[in-house]
Amino acid sequence: MALVHCRECGEMIADSAPTCPKCGARQNVGYDILPEIEIDKDPNAGLNIVSFLWPLIGLILYIAYNDKSPRRAKSCGKWAIVGTIVGVAIVTLVVILTGVFIASI
Ligand SMILES: [Zn+2]
Repeated sequence: MALVHCRECGEMIADSAPTCPKCGARQNVGYDILPEIEIDKDPNAGLNIVSFLWPLIGLILYIAYNDKSPRRAKSCGKWAIVGTIVGVAIVTLVVILTGVFIASI
């Protein structure tokens, strides 16, 4: 429970109080509190790392967040792409190094 200012008199009152105990003004409880699902969430560092390490999960996160949190979705999608590129680069490097190693025998 948090304290908020009364809309009428400015008194500090409980945010769950339907009316102000001091002046009796209605407080429209919950009126301007948006459901969490409608808030465009900030990019999440943990999800970015997951997307980077497992691009497939990043792609799923991108699809899951796309309609509700476009910024977070884009962030996951971006890291999934980076993870894919880095993954392909590492595999390519390993293949080249293996080829060089075999050729040197
Ligand atoms: Zn009041």
